[in-house]
Parts: sequence; structure tokens; C-alpha cells
Amino acid sequence: RISKMPHHKTLDDYDFSYQPELDARKVRDLATLAFVEAKVNAALLGPPGVGKTHIAVALAVAACRAGFSVYFTTLDDMVRQLKAADAIGRLASKLRTYLRPHVLVLDEVGYLPLARDEANLVFQMISKRYEKGSILLTSNKAFSEWGQVFGDEVLATAILDRLLHHCEVIAINGPSYRLKNRLAAVTTE
Ligand code: ADP
Ligand code: MG
Repeated sequence: RISKMPHHKTLDDYDFSYQPELDARKVRDLATLAFVEAKVNAALLGPPGVGKTHIAVALAVAACRAGFSVYFTTLDDMVRQLKAADAIGRLASKLRTYLRPHVLVLDEVGYLPLARDEANLVFQMISKRYEKGSILLTSNKAFSEWGQVFGDEVLATAILDRLLHHCEVIAINGPSYRLKNRLAAVTTE
């Protein structure tokens, strides 16, 4: 079961020719789900509109179909949930929501900077999940900028240390597909 997933997308709907710098083979390798078996993480990095969420959803759907449990959330939503649980003394039980599934999709890491206590909750989740199950994350920030995202270089380094120890990193550096659609709409009017 996949919770809170945006509308379903598949890799067949993804136009690789629009992102010539993206290594399609790397994405298709992820789609074999060997990374899930191996409890390896995957990171999709790039600017807005290049299809990071699209690909993450496609992989999540594939994992789900293959019988893996998947939980889909944005980083900000997870932080909100963990904070609310912590405030009523239920952090350990809420953490299990994010520790249990075979695949945890963390969409939109880095969109909003986190406060120190929030970054700490993320660290707790990442370190508890380390080598126990895959995290599939998307981010518009380079790893070198995570110190700013998490408000603390030491904490960001500790998070990255665990995340990147076993991680497939795919950079999508190209034009926004949203912009393509908008320009097409304008020119056909
Ligand atoms: P990101 O998460 O990188 O900001 P999204 O995955 O939300 O981008 O993509 C924005 C929209 O464009 C979505 O509707 C997505 O399905 C579509 N899209 C993005 N890239 C492609 C592509 N190469 N081929 C087909 N659709 C794409
Ligand atoms: Mg996105």
C-alpha cells in the first residue's frame, strides 16, 4: 500500500529525450528494484520540473506492484508529523511509520530550511533506518547545500554520512518540463 502518493506516473510516461543529460540506464537500473532488495538508498537531484517526483512515483509504484511496502511523503510533511507526535510523547511510535516500509520515499528534501529540532528529528529517522531499508529521496539542493537546509553543518554531515554510504545518485540537470508545457500552451493560443 502506498500512502499519500501524488497521482500515478510510470517510467513509460517519462520522455527521456527531453533530458538528454539524464542517464536513462541508471533510472532503468533502479526500476529493476535491486536497490530495494539490497536496502540501498537512491537520490534524484535537480532543479524544479525535471521529473524527480515523477520518477520517484514511478519507482514507488513499481516497488509496490512487486510486493514491497512503500510509504510516500514529503520531507516537510514527515517533519510535521514527527514534531506533532514528539509533542505528545509519541515520537517512537510515529518513527515506526517511517522505519517499517521497505521503501520510504522522501520527496522535496531542501525546499524549506529546517529548524535545529526539526533537523534532529530527521537525523533520528535516518540513523534508525540506516541499512534497514531503502530511502528514495528527491532534492533541488546539492548535497553541499544541505548544511543550510538542516541549519547545521555537523548535523547535515551526519545525515549525509548515513544516507550516502549506500546510495545511487542520479542528477537531472536540464530544462523544466512544466515550462515546456507552458510555452507550448502559449504558442498554440
Ligand atoms: P520535479 O519533482 O522535478 O519538480 P515533477 O516530477 O513534478 O518535477 O514534474 C513536473 C511535471 O512534468 C509532472 O507532471 C511530470 O509528470 C512532468 N514531467 C517532467 N519531466 C517529464 C518528462 N521528461 N517526460 C514526461 N513528463 C515529464
Ligand atoms: Mg517534485
